[in-house]
Amino acid sequence: MLVVMQSHATEAQIRAVCERIERLGLKAHPMPGSLRTAIGITGNKGAIDLGVLESLPGVVECIPVSKPYKLVSRDTKEEDTILRIPTPSGDVIVGGQHIALIAGPCAVETEEQCLAIAERIKKSGARLFRGGAYKPRTSPYSFQGLGEAGLKILSKVRATHGFGIITEAIDNESLDLVEEYADVIQIGARNMQNFSLLKRAGRAKKPVLLKRGMSATLDEFLMAAEYILSEGNYNVMLCERGVRTFSDFSRNTLDLAVIPAVKKRSHLPILVDPSHGTGKRHKVLPLSRAAVAVGADGLLIEVHHEPDKALSDGMQSILPEEFAVLADEMRQIAAVLHRTIN
Ligand code: PEP
Ligand code: MN
Repeated sequence: MLVVMQSHATEAQIRAVCERIERLGLKAHPMPGSLRTAIGITGNKGAIDLGVLESLPGVVECIPVSKPYKLVSRDTKEEDTILRIPTPSGDVIVGGQHIALIAGPCAVETEEQCLAIAERIKKSGARLFRGGAYKPRTSPYSFQGLGEAGLKILSKVRATHGFGIITEAIDNESLDLVEEYADVIQIGARNMQNFSLLKRAGRAKKPVLLKRGMSATLDEFLMAAEYILSEGNYNVMLCERGVRTFSDFSRNTLDLAVIPAVKKRSHLPILVDPSHGTGKRHKVLPLSRAAVAVGADGLLIEVHHEPDKALSDGMQSILPEEFAVLADEMRQIAAVLHRTIN
C-alpha cells in the first residue's frame, strides 16, 4: 500500500500520516520525491482500512502496490535514488547522472599489496576501494580472508589515500565489524538470500551493495533488496555480477539486459561487476564498455598489481595500468551519455 501525499503537504502532515500508520501496527516508510512524498506501508497481512488514511490532511490517495516488492519499486518512488557515500575526500555520488568506479583486489592480502594497488588506481581517479577481508570461498581450504586484520588494512588505505571502503560481510558477526570499519557494506552473491543477514544490513547505518545471486531471477534480486529497505536502510545499490547458464566459455554469464529491466522496475542504482561476470582479465574492458553504455550506475573492478601472485581471482584481475585505460574509456563513454564518473 502506498499513501500519496499532496505536493504541498507539510512535514507535520507527513508525520501525522506516518504516526497513524504506526498506530495501526504497521510500518511507515516516507519516500520524499522531487514533486511529492509517498509513504510506503509494510507489515500488513491483509487489507488496510483506506478510509482512515485517505481522510487525513495532506493525503491525495492510497493505492495498492501490486508488485511483490514495494519499497524498491518505481511505483513507490519515481525518481532515481542517488546515494551519497561519505569518504575522507568528500562524498562520492552514485546514481542519476553519476557513475561510480570501484576498484581494488579481490581479497585484502597484505598492507603493502593494498597500498600499492590503492596508490595506482587513485591516479586513475577511482575514489572507492574494494577488497574482501572475509572471503566466501567454494573450498574451505582456500584463503578465507584476513578478517578484522584485513579491515584494519582497509582503514589504512582510507587514511592514506582518502578512499571510501567497500568490503563484504558474510554473516551477522562480520557485518558488525564491517559496519564499523567500512563505508559501504557488500553482501555477496552467495548471501543474496541470507535473509537474516539482509535484515541486519537493513538495520545498518551504512549504504549496502547487494550482489545478484548466481541463479537469482530479477524478482528474487529485487525482493532481496526489499528486505534491506523494509528494515529502514534505503541506501542500497544493486550489482549484477553474472549468472550461471549453460554457456561454458566464461565463469558466469554477465546479464547486461538486466540493467534496463531493473531501471524500469526500481529506483535503486545498479552497478556491474565484469570481473566476476566473466572470470577472465581480457573480457573486463569490453564488458565494462558495454555496461556503462547500457546504463550501469557504476563498475566494480578487480585490480591487482601482481595478479599471478593473487590469493584469489588473479585470472580476472586487471593490472593497474589496464585500469587506467579502462577509467579513461569509461569517462569518454559516460560523456556521450551526459553522465560523469566519480
Ligand atoms: C567479490 O566481489 O569479492 C565476490 C566474492 O563477489 P560475488 O559475491 O559476486 O561472487
Ligand atoms: Mn573475487
